[in-house]
Amino acid sequence: QGPGHAAPFEDEHRALLVRQHALHQALLTTLRQDGLGLALQYQPLVALDDGRLVGCEALLRWHHPQHGPVSPAEFIPVAEGGGLMEALGRWVLQQAVAQLAAWRRRGATGWYLAVNVSRVQLLDPSLPALVRETLQYHHVPPGALCLEITESQPLDDPATRAALQRLRELGVRLALDDFGTGYSSLSALTELPLHAVKIDRRFVDGIENCPYRQALVDSVVRLAGVIGLNVVAEGIETAAQAERLRALGCQHVQGWHISRALDAHVFAEHWLPRATRAAARHDAPGCPA
Ligand code: C2E
Ligand code: MG
Ligand code: MG
Ligand code: MG
Repeated sequence: QGPGHAAPFEDEHRALLVRQHALHQALLTTLRQDGLGLALQYQPLVALDDGRLVGCEALLRWHHPQHGPVSPAEFIPVAEGGGLMEALGRWVLQQAVAQLAAWRRRGATGWYLAVNVSRVQLLDPSLPALVRETLQYHHVPPGALCLEITESQPLDDPATRAALQRLRELGVRLALDDFGTGYSSLSALTELPLHAVKIDRRFVDGIENCPYRQALVDSVVRLAGVIGLNVVAEGIETAAQAERLRALGCQHVQGWHISRALDAHVFAEHWLPRATRAAARHDAPGCPA
């Protein structure tokens, strides 16, 4: 545990290491089998003013024959620590963009798909080329893709900043995920080339009765307004939370109050018609916005 600190090796540590090793091996096999057992679910992002679909977030699911369903909160760190995150991230990006392309061919344009990108991927110099080639292959315009980056470590080092800048130059959107947790600071919002900031669920939970959380959201919304960032609140579970966020000027929301993350065909059935209608309205000549 670092210089001058020691802790006895307990059985629970052993159990954790055994589990992580087993998941690492299983993930390796899964990736060698072209992602057999992996799937993406899609959670809608909607505008608070009129409920229109503005985007959706792709969330990775893993169902392993022996381990059963494993949460991304558990296997993403295993992939990151075990050298598998680039391959896993590539699988996610290719699946997600292929799905988006299929939906766009059905007329559902005018909204974006968000994909989570781990810091390991962000620091991989081949990421911008992968993103560009994947979009070109599927004929998807870069503005229809948003990459979500979590500030689990400070993002203000030169390498990260350069990586974000290269992605921005491709024309993809960039969102800062889980804002308010980890190292996120207000200065990151002004200094990084972002399009959106996602306020973490922990500030939405109980916001109706908590002046402190309200003040935090209020200040993020105000600052974002000055810099021209979109504000998305994550983890909305009740109408009261949505109402409070609307009053605070938050534009977009995502959460179980709107919808859980859905399998692709369920998402397409319930949500694509709304995107398709919105796109048709937008394209109609002489139609008021
Ligand atoms: P995230 O990117 O912040 O995603 C939002 C998480 O909140 C998701 O958990 C989602 O299912 C959950 N959520 C959404 N609405 C609600 C709500 O109203 N209430 C509650 N209690 N939870 C809600 P999930 O799917 O378990 O993913 C956890 C995290 O794992 C994600 O957090 C993201 O950091 C990571 N992750 C998921 N998929 C990927 C991926 O493809 N690549 C990478 N690098 N990370 C991923
Ligand atoms: Mg996310
Ligand atoms: Mg988040
Ligand atoms: Mg999160």
